[in-house]
Amino acid sequence: AKEGEENLRSPICCIMGHVDTGKTKLLDCIRGTNVQEGEAGGITQQIGATYFPAENIRERTKELNANAKLKVPGLLVIDTPGHESFTNLRSMGSNLCDLAILVVDIMHDLKPQTIESLNLLRRRNVKFIVALNKVDLLYGWKRITNAPIMKTMMQQTSDVVHEFKMRLNRVINQFQEQGLNSKLYSENIEMGETINIVPTSAISGEEIPDLLLLLVQWSQKTMVEKLTYVDKVQCTVLEVKVIEGQGITVDVVLVNGVLHEGDLIVVCGSQGPIVTTIRSLLTPHPMKEMRVKGTYLPQREVKGAQGIKIAAQGLEHAIAGTALRVIGPNEDLEEAKKKAMEDIKSVMNRIDKIDKGVHVQASTRGSLEALLEHLKSPGVNIPVIGTGIGPVHKKDIMKVGVMLERKKELATILAFDVKVTAEVGKLADKMGVKIFCADTIYDLSKHFKSYIVAIKE
Ligand code: GDP
Ligand code: MG
Repeated sequence: AKEGEENLRSPICCIMGHVDTGKTKLLDCIRGTNVQEGEAGGITQQIGATYFPAENIRERTKELNANAKLKVPGLLVIDTPGHESFTNLRSMGSNLCDLAILVVDIMHDLKPQTIESLNLLRRRNVKFIVALNKVDLLYGWKRITNAPIMKTMMQQTSDVVHEFKMRLNRVINQFQEQGLNSKLYSENIEMGETINIVPTSAISGEEIPDLLLLLVQWSQKTMVEKLTYVDKVQCTVLEVKVIEGQGITVDVVLVNGVLHEGDLIVVCGSQGPIVTTIRSLLTPHPMKEMRVKGTYLPQREVKGAQGIKIAAQGLEHAIAGTALRVIGPNEDLEEAKKKAMEDIKSVMNRIDKIDKGVHVQASTRGSLEALLEHLKSPGVNIPVIGTGIGPVHKKDIMKVGVMLERKKELATILAFDVKVTAEVGKLADKMGVKIFCADTIYDLSKHFKSYIVAIKE
């Protein structure tokens, strides 16, 4: 297409890196929100999505006087958890995205999950920018809110500049050890194979507008083919969760195409293909995180790329990471069902067949998978016999009650980030079923372990 004729969709950018490097905080800084402080234990345990419309990007970067020509309608950013057990969600993020930000803490070496993320991206040939975050923690750093680093750097003492260079070079060397060339982005004129490093602070906002602009300009310059909008629906299920008043919903990322209210869809489910119609299409407000409970905007139709919450019948067993397909009037439903189930092979086989174990209940499919991964890990090793999504119901208690005769201490429900009503709690007490609730997966296994120790004493 000639200049001006391009029909680009919003690039999907995944934010990855080790826990605590500042991924969520960086997004908060761009959004002007405070998601990070609202997280249980300050950690991200779900995958999320935020849409940044072009006009917000223009506003956020206007001080750069770049006269930014934005050809893309916006930017869809996917936030991922950094903890070890959440490889499933990181892997899904890297599978979906067009480009990525790899966040590294300037005060620390490259950490295991940063290297893991890097390899996920490399395997999928996804180009990324490194945000070298927390520059404000350098001893003696003078902060200038939202300023470009080059400007801030001129205000610093030679000691601070020296320390910055030393730490930058250490990170460059560590990337080199991973077989990657990287450079400070202001010195990286060619921007070819050499990875850009952008120093940032999510607290003072230094270099954040620059990072945003770089992402957008870089993607629309080098990824035109990948970002050219196509009509065929390309859509992936991110999460499965219960929303009050909506029942079971799925969060999806629609990459290409249009979804409509009333569309007939097929989704891969753990009990077989799910065929259903879209009851409602909801989008989060622009600049708001989709995974944070709040108000959603009902839509008649939504065009990719966008993060969408879909309510429909029968979604309970939908599997995150698989494709959502739309069946048009001339399309073969049986064929689509068959295709949908091809996705399952790689995702299933996570629960081993055993006859003794605890029941695990979680708020979303993705966090359930991460929790199972964590419970399986050496040192934790808690057997799981059953799982569920959403609030704990009476029927769950009855089911778990069966375990009382097999192994009493395993007649337990580990409930992650879900509600247990007083009524359900009472029934559990009466039957002798234990329920542990926690809002981080690590606390949950800890509570259970202490309980086992207490019983044995
Ligand atoms: P994530 O695990 O990568 O999502 O990291 P978070 O966004 O949860 O941040 C981890 C911690 O580091 C929080 O206490 C943040 O307030 C803090 N933090 C994040 N970015 C910065 C930064 O640029 N400067 C400083 N001083 N602290 C930061
Ligand atoms: Mg986070």
